[in-house]
Amino acid sequence: MLKLKKIYKSFGDLQVLNGVNLEVKQGEVKAIIGPSGTGKSTLLRCINYLEKPDEGEIILDQLQLNAKTITKKEIYELRKSTAMVFQSFNLFKNKTVLENIIESLVLIKKVEKNKAIEVGMDILKKVGLEEKKNVYPAKLSGGQQQRVAIGRALAINPKVILFDEPTSSLDPELVGEVLELIKKLAKENMTMVIVTHEMSFAKEVADKVAFMDDGKVIQEGTSEELFSSVTNPRISKFISRLS
Ligand code: ADP
Ligand code: MG
Repeated sequence: MLKLKKIYKSFGDLQVLNGVNLEVKQGEVKAIIGPSGTGKSTLLRCINYLEKPDEGEIILDQLQLNAKTITKKEIYELRKSTAMVFQSFNLFKNKTVLENIIESLVLIKKVEKNKAIEVGMDILKKVGLEEKKNVYPAKLSGGQQQRVAIGRALAINPKVILFDEPTSSLDPELVGEVLELIKKLAKENMTMVIVTHEMSFAKEVADKVAFMDDGKVIQEGTSEELFSSVTNPRISKFISRLS
């Protein structure tokens, strides 16, 4: 479904991504873990060209995109099939919950308003926020706001959803509802890439876990493989600090 080949990205003198390779199969949940500052967010942003990689190839289903030759139309196609969920929700503050969810349907997918509302209501049901449809984000808890953001991601019916530490800015008691929703999507075979610090969640939900360090994926495997038989000292150091 999604394949990254030798993705490089630097900001000025700072080389952030150092030839990342990653493959995510259809219906697979891939967790990305690793120390902060190692390029995890940058990698996700490169996957849907919120940041333009300097070099490398992104293959998403039928799309095959090379950083050197990519066109505006290809970026548009890529964005239509990928959705991003951020740590800080990034909802439109002056739009209601329902408006937030259908915004991209109307603007990007050019879906007619009534049809978009129909789809939006189905999604609200799925994320458990039907009764909040006319409420503005400021009136919601962090967990509810993040569920709206996930609903907004679902609205475009993406081929893959990219999550950047979706629970990091939530109070501990609100983390569960967001993780439950992500688990539900996993059961429905949604393809997802999740940058997370929640190791127990990564163990429970991710089919594969990739460990990133110094702008590269340095090891990858099932959570058992990665957590139990750690031979790489950088990984064991990282994991021991968390537990
Ligand atoms: P992570 O998500 O793993 O913590 P990031 O991808 O956010 O890491 O950042 C990796 C490095 O790139 C950091 O040193 C960060 O300061 C730098 N960086 C990220 N975005 C930018 C940017 N837009 N301009 C300059 N430096 C950036
Ligand atoms: Mg980050």
